[in-house]
Amino acid sequence: MTPLGIFGGTFDPIHFGHLRTAFELLDVLRCGEVRFVPAGNPPHRDAPLADAQLRLALVAVAIADQPGFVVDDREVRRDGPSYAVLTLRELRAEFPARPLCLLLGMDAFLGLPQWYEWREILPLAHVVVAHRPGWRAPADGPLGELLARCRTDRVDDLHEAPSGRIYIHAVTQLEISSTDLRDLLAAGQDPRYLVPEAVRTAIRATGSYFRPSTRR
Ligand code: ATP
Repeated sequence: MTPLGIFGGTFDPIHFGHLRTAFELLDVLRCGEVRFVPAGNPPHRDAPLADAQLRLALVAVAIADQPGFVVDDREVRRDGPSYAVLTLRELRAEFPARPLCLLLGMDAFLGLPQWYEWREILPLAHVVVAHRPGWRAPADGPLGELLARCRTDRVDDLHEAPSGRIYIHAVTQLEISSTDLRDLLAAGQDPRYLVPEAVRTAIRATGSYFRPSTRR
């Protein structure tokens, strides 16, 4: 049974940094599928600029032509904060024995100890961290302790157990963020070559992002 990759995020909006990371991990992890799971009500941050239905629709058009990429709307349908642990519990109930891999950028991984019930995540899934070359794994603190116990350099370990390992992998760095995209769009600039053409077209059609963002 191939692992199921789970890529959560606010995706406000989705961009090539997300897509390239997911594409490289789909290949290197030998996942059968990467599920993009847009957060309905992302905790730990300001409310998204675009509503959940639009963010979901943009993910759907962005991934439409990539085999193995799937959009999952469960966090948009669920009431309350979009805690990852709740999503992983649901997926574990649906896939009792399948390896689950929660895909995270390094910035997200470093914030893991602030997540709701974060210590319940590794019993439910592996954690795969996409990092930039030259980055050093935390040696101390709760993440250092977790890495010392759970880190592996073998992709096969992610296939042989349903959960519990941490795998760190360098991906091509694309310095694109949704924050910068929102600012660019609000300033009336063109997002061409930062997002797929279908996303660019859909954003232009809605006009949703063409107002000033008040935060970084
Ligand atoms: P924002 O700027 O609004 O915080 P973001 O661009 O960081 O958004 P998110 O939707 O918050 O995007 O991120 C979802 C996931 O994608 C996170 O795990 C994050 O680390 C990762 N990610 C975001 N941008 C990149 C990028 N350019 N390259 C690789 N991973 C990324």
